[in-house]
Amino acid sequence: MSEPDIYCPHCTWRPLGTSRWLCTQQMGGCGTCWNTFWTGGVCPGCGYRWEITACLACKRFSLHKDWYHWPESETHQDECTRETEQPSSG
Ligand SMILES: [Zn+2]
Ligand SMILES: [Zn+2]
Repeated sequence: MSEPDIYCPHCTWRPLGTSRWLCTQQMGGCGTCWNTFWTGGVCPGCGYRWEITACLACKRFSLHKDWYHWPESETHQDECTRETEQPSSG
């Protein structure tokens, strides 16, 4: 098992160990500050899973999974994704 490269898909900025993200209260978060790549985008404060992650360098949002760049070039994915997200009531 090899580790993925983690960097911004827009500007290739790499998160540092000291980088911190905010569980944005404006978007219903709890205000926790943590390194989102240690938890796979899950806020340790409220348990919310962030599907998008902001780049601290270029300030653009990307899907959290798009930050992970696996060395294997041959990905055979059948991506017939439909928007089937349920409205979260909370
Ligand atoms: Zn939170
Ligand atoms: Zn960036």
